[in-house]
Amino acid sequence: MTAHRVGIMGGTFDPVHLGHLIAAREVARIHDLDEVLFSPVYQPWHKQMRGLAPAADRVAMLELALADDPAFSVTTVDVDRGGDTYTIDTLNDLDALFAGKHLGEGVDWFFITGADAIAAFDSWKSTDELLSRARFIGVSRPGHDLRLPEVQGAERIELLDVDSADISSTEVRELASRGDSLAGLVPSAVEQYIVEHGLYRSPQS
Ligand code: NAP
Repeated sequence: MTAHRVGIMGGTFDPVHLGHLIAAREVARIHDLDEVLFSPVYQPWHKQMRGLAPAADRVAMLELALADDPAFSVTTVDVDRGGDTYTIDTLNDLDALFAGKHLGEGVDWFFITGADAIAAFDSWKSTDELLSRARFIGVSRPGHDLRLPEVQGAERIELLDVDSADISSTEVRELASRGDSLAGLVPSAVEQYIVEHGLYRSPQS
């Protein structure tokens, strides 16, 4: 029996945009993944972040963005656990969930995130264990430098220049703060949600 091949797309998704969807599809195609779980962090462990949009809004936007693709779904393991998000906890929680769902089948995990985040992999918690339990894929926007972290087991880490639209959540938030159109950057249902909930609006706009 072959193992179930599952991608975990990790990020803050503030908000999710079309670049994330294109990257997930590309990794799923290359690695023949059965499904991809988008896992929004509750709180990045390593940053004093600018105010993130509430987790409930980031999850709701992901649900809207993924509604048309049966192979994509949201997992709220990180949001439900709360506190700082460490990938080792994400993997532990998802392993426990899948042990019940795919009895005896086994799961091959592929953790997908931005290449910037992967470049700092050596500062993550439990790196040896992470690399023994999952493969890691850092996706980059065209034109960005790709750098593999210097850790033992780095052969389990792959960097991929995905020819996706050059979109960033920062750009989406900046446009939304001015009330500008987000067409071509986020799914239309996500744009509608941002407008209806007044997300990212600057006080003057
Ligand atoms: P982030 O601030 O959202 O993203 C950092 C960069 O990567 C941004 O340029 C971002 O672009 C891009 N990116 C993020 N997620 C992406 C994805 N799934 N696909 C393509 N590009 C993506 O995220 P982060 O705080 O660095 O964390 C990323 C993931 O790594 C999370 O799941 C986090 O839990 C994990 N992580 C774990 C540890 C640890 O365990 N110690 C440490 C660091 C990170 P956009 O802004 O356009 O999304």
